[in-house]
Amino acid sequence: DIGRQHRHVVMLPFMAQGHMIPFLALARQIEQRTGYAITIATTPINAAYLRSTISSSTTPTTIRVAELPFCSTDHGLPPNTENTEALPNHHIITLFRASQTLEPSFYNLVSTITQQDGQPPLCIIADVFLGWSVNVAKRVGSFHAVFTTSGGYGTAAYFSLWLNLPHRHTDSDEFTVPGFPETCRFHRSQLHPKLRSADGTDPCSVVYQREIRLSLGSNGFLCNTAEEMEKFGLEILRRFTGVPVWSIGPLLPPAFLLNLPSPTDSNLSSLRSGKQPGITPENCIKWLDYHPPGSVLYISFGSQNTINTTQMMELAMGVEASGKAFIWVVRPPVGFDINGEFKAEWLPEGFEERVTESRRGLVVRTWAPQLEILSHKSTGAFLSHCGWNSSLESLSQGVPIIGWPLVAEQTYNSKMLEEEMGVCVELARGLDGRILSGEVERVIKLVMDVGEKGKEMKMKASEAARKIRAAVKKEGDQLGFSVKALDSFLEIALSQRGSSSLNEANGYP
Ligand code: UDP
Repeated sequence: DIGRQHRHVVMLPFMAQGHMIPFLALARQIEQRTGYAITIATTPINAAYLRSTISSSTTPTTIRVAELPFCSTDHGLPPNTENTEALPNHHIITLFRASQTLEPSFYNLVSTITQQDGQPPLCIIADVFLGWSVNVAKRVGSFHAVFTTSGGYGTAAYFSLWLNLPHRHTDSDEFTVPGFPETCRFHRSQLHPKLRSADGTDPCSVVYQREIRLSLGSNGFLCNTAEEMEKFGLEILRRFTGVPVWSIGPLLPPAFLLNLPSPTDSNLSSLRSGKQPGITPENCIKWLDYHPPGSVLYISFGSQNTINTTQMMELAMGVEASGKAFIWVVRPPVGFDINGEFKAEWLPEGFEERVTESRRGLVVRTWAPQLEILSHKSTGAFLSHCGWNSSLESLSQGVPIIGWPLVAEQTYNSKMLEEEMGVCVELARGLDGRILSGEVERVIKLVMDVGEKGKEMKMKASEAARKIRAAVKKEGDQLGFSVKALDSFLEIALSQRGSSSLNEANGYP
């Protein structure tokens, strides 16, 4: 119908599951609130993944997925690899570079939509790593917003560190970061090895700086966070970008997205079909039912990361020594195929049998129903890599976090969760650190026992859960802040569409 056609939202996620899922969640949210037409544009394999995800939904949807032509081998990538999940680390930057070549075909898509609808899309919502889409929006006169898929603090730290490389201007391990207060010092070990050695001319700096700079020419930012929960981080991000930042989250995965494996992962079906006998998502929940409230530690490093063999051994020994019950999503350690088979030798001898028999632990291979586990009353803490989705899911259920950040902006998330929110204790950092089982045991007890610290963290996590619930409230006369922020973003985009100001560059210095 005409109304819908005249209000068309075009979305452009980066080709990684951790980006596509929040984009899909945002698309659903916009669709539910407005009924606008929505097109998500991505490369063919990711488009197929998104389509199958959408079609497995029980809720009807009109979200359309458009394909941007892409041939991985043309860019020197292995055949049929179009997302970060399928790529070895050294190829990821090639994928970033290749994604820059999507600009002409994305422009064609947006032009076709403009012709069909008789006017440009209401807005283009793009990933921060696809900053070139700002040019496309300016050419057609659409409002452009960057959807960060991360929180305010993590995004601001990521931007500022890559753009300014502040650690290069000091010999000290600790340094301040432009945009952040003097008191908020960062440590060299919080930087990804690639960032640590970056000098502005290396491939990573070149790609990230280009896309971040272009993104800073956008008309605004959408942030997957709740205003009340992350005031400090949002304030920094607003100052840093100088454009409106709407906090519209948390966009937790809608029910139909739960338990989905990564685009290249065939393991979920094998999990479901009982390749690992007896362990199904339903069984995880039944297993939790046996345990007293707040007594179980949930351990997961997200969909793409894993620790090294020594760390895995120490973690297992520490968890066992803590005496706490646990669910651990184990994945092959660094150096092995993360989606490959898990070998018993990576854990202490007899570990799995001992903990299974005594019902002390549930070792889940590859994938667990995370949000269901976190929302179960028996879950008392989450040992997490502090991926932003995991952090939000944990806090939305009032579950305190034991941090073990690994890559991307995870170390900044962990820092913020610990220093600003008081809901996290960082146990380890990255893959370099030598972690001992005794430390694992100490931190688990610190967080899960009913001591001062444990009680305080639980209280703060419950407070965050309350703020999150209030922010996403969609019913009644008091709409949540995040819901109102999304409405207000769409109204502003609508009021500015086609205005000459949108064609002007507001580029970043
Ligand atoms: N996830 C899950 N089961 C698992 C591991 C991960 O359901 O065994 C989901 C988790 O709930 C979250 C997402 O995968 O929604 C991971 O996103 P996050 O941003 O935390 O980390 P990433 O995987 O992007 O590093």
